[in-house]
Amino acid sequence: MESFDVVIIGSGAGGAPIAHTLARASKSVLVLDKGPLLRTQEEHPLGVSDFKRDELYATGAEKKLTLEGVKNREEAFYSSHVEPDLNDEPHIYEGVDGKDRATIEGYTAQVVGGGTQLYGAVSLRFSEIDFRLASFNAGRTDLIDDPKNDVQKYARDWPISYADLEPYYCEAERLVGINGTRANQGKPFSTDHYQTPYPPNPISAFIETGMDALFMPRYRTPLAVITQDHAPSGRKMPQGPEPAKTGYVNRYGDPLGLKSNTWVTLIRPLKPLPNFTLRANCVVTHLEASGDKITKVVYRDAAGRTVEVAGTLVVVACSAIESVRLLLLSAERDTAFKARINGNGLLGEYFLTHCFGGAEAIMPGRYDKSISLDSDWATDACASDVFIKTNGLWAGGAIYNNTSDQALPISLARTHGSVDMDTMWTSFINDTGLTGDALNQFFDANFGTRLSVSFMANQVPLPTNRIELHPTIRDKWGRLVAYIRKDWHSHDKHLMNVFAGQCRRILAFGGDGGVGNYQVNEFGAIYSAENARARIANHILGGARFGTNPADSVLDPQCRAWNFDNLYVTDGGFMPTSGGANPTLTIQANALRVADHLLTRV
Ligand SMILES: Cc1cc2nc3c(=O)[nH]c(=O)nc-3n(C[C@H](O)[C@H](O)[C@H](O)COP(=O)(O)OP(=O)(O)OC[C@H]3O[C@@H](n4cnc5c(N)ncnc54)[C@H](O)[C@@H]3O)c2cc1C
Repeated sequence: MESFDVVIIGSGAGGAPIAHTLARASKSVLVLDKGPLLRTQEEHPLGVSDFKRDELYATGAEKKLTLEGVKNREEAFYSSHVEPDLNDEPHIYEGVDGKDRATIEGYTAQVVGGGTQLYGAVSLRFSEIDFRLASFNAGRTDLIDDPKNDVQKYARDWPISYADLEPYYCEAERLVGINGTRANQGKPFSTDHYQTPYPPNPISAFIETGMDALFMPRYRTPLAVITQDHAPSGRKMPQGPEPAKTGYVNRYGDPLGLKSNTWVTLIRPLKPLPNFTLRANCVVTHLEASGDKITKVVYRDAAGRTVEVAGTLVVVACSAIESVRLLLLSAERDTAFKARINGNGLLGEYFLTHCFGGAEAIMPGRYDKSISLDSDWATDACASDVFIKTNGLWAGGAIYNNTSDQALPISLARTHGSVDMDTMWTSFINDTGLTGDALNQFFDANFGTRLSVSFMANQVPLPTNRIELHPTIRDKWGRLVAYIRKDWHSHDKHLMNVFAGQCRRILAFGGDGGVGNYQVNEFGAIYSAENARARIANHILGGARFGTNPADSVLDPQCRAWNFDNLYVTDGGFMPTSGGANPTLTIQANALRVADHLLTRV
């Protein structure tokens, strides 16, 4: 059996930083990822990228859901080339009617680089308060819509503070390659590694006006897309008009490699190292243990063969749902493993995503969205102590704008009518108003004219929001699939209403030069969507929270499973609360922190 210092399962935000640090320190590192390696055009012998610029677009005709025991059996669905086929390996969620449905929600992307290949690249730090929401809320009696004091019961402080993570935020920003500005951010910075952002899209001037009218300090949204040569990853800006295409970042793979996904930033630079091995198309099926040591990582390789490898240290970073599933599947095979990983029954509990939503308006004029990135301005105004308490909230969040249009083909397919993922195209196809002249009018009204403002905020952690193994439904290999049980707390709904109102106000004040009467077409939050229970915002967090008390957490402060000596979980699963911003930069910073600890162990 081959043996490595570290075996890392998953090459996304939680896995790649560990590989980077340990391989650079001459440790032998194996990274296993179930997805393929999709090349940028520069890496491809013919100069044609494996990315299609429409990664989430259906790859063929519709398929029929044939799984037994789900309410949406017999329905048509489409899948893309970076997501599993729903019939092969679905996630199952329980709808409000108590019936199970198959969904693609809760998968980011199955490809080397994980979700960072498709992400919108919004790379915000969490606020200082986000790390101590239990202390912050202790003794408060002013929380709205929390009749049973769930916040005080279930919120947990992180075992590390913002100050502990701050040097790793700096290091992540340096290594990954992010453009943005620091002034007006509500968090302390010790160093500034941001690259210079592109000029904002002219349509974002409405956001500047709106935020200024509301006295919301604003800064250029940090985006993990390079705008200049980037020495740590060895990337160079192409000459000519090419970089403009990075305007379409969110939901697209970047053929140019300018988006700072973990493949181009953290893993590709390791390729020349003899002590580094990457194996794509290798799905880890389970772990085996002897006492407190993980002794085998068992995977199926690209040819379907079962292979066993060993690591002095084993890092699980499959994105939270699949990591919990992998550990539960391993526990199903071995009662001693089960007792160690889930003796306190907490594995899978306190699964989290974010409260999210926003507002959208059609602005006067028409703008070319391709000349800039998707988000120009962000504000931390709604993460402050004063804002949180004035609104009877338990936590704050971030607000930023998006310039992209619903009228872009993929956006239309995926977001028209605010549906997502598994209901792709359905809403558009069923909108019988969008035919003939009406369709022309829709494009005329929407193309180059829409402006939106989004929020991302903390979700109340609940033990009832959890990942389990489904009792009966199995993947094509016969392994039980992940069962997502979750709902929104009444305080989440209050919080989302407050934040959606703030987003609306920014547009209302922005659209008419600071008066506040501009018509905002739509505003709201995810809890009112038809499939609200399933929606996860691609932010897959919690379920293996870290903490200082072994009876109250799955992982110790270094993200080591309490009762295993050599097992670590470093994807978003470690988070006890989901933070008031998009999570990936924090996952990366924490993984760099854990990597420093691992260096002391091998
Ligand atoms: C369309 C989209 C937009 C997004 N926008 C943003 C944004 O703007 N900002 C932000 O902060 N976040 C964003 N995200 C979320 C971001 O992608 C995730 O937070 C991040 O990638 C999570 O990191 P992770 O390590 O937990 O998992 P991932 O990065 O998803 O990595 C998990 C990896 O594990 C592999 N894997 C899973 N199971 C196995 C197995 N059994 N064996 C081997 N390999 C396995 C997968 O193939 C995958 O490569 C977005 C995501 C999507 C899909």
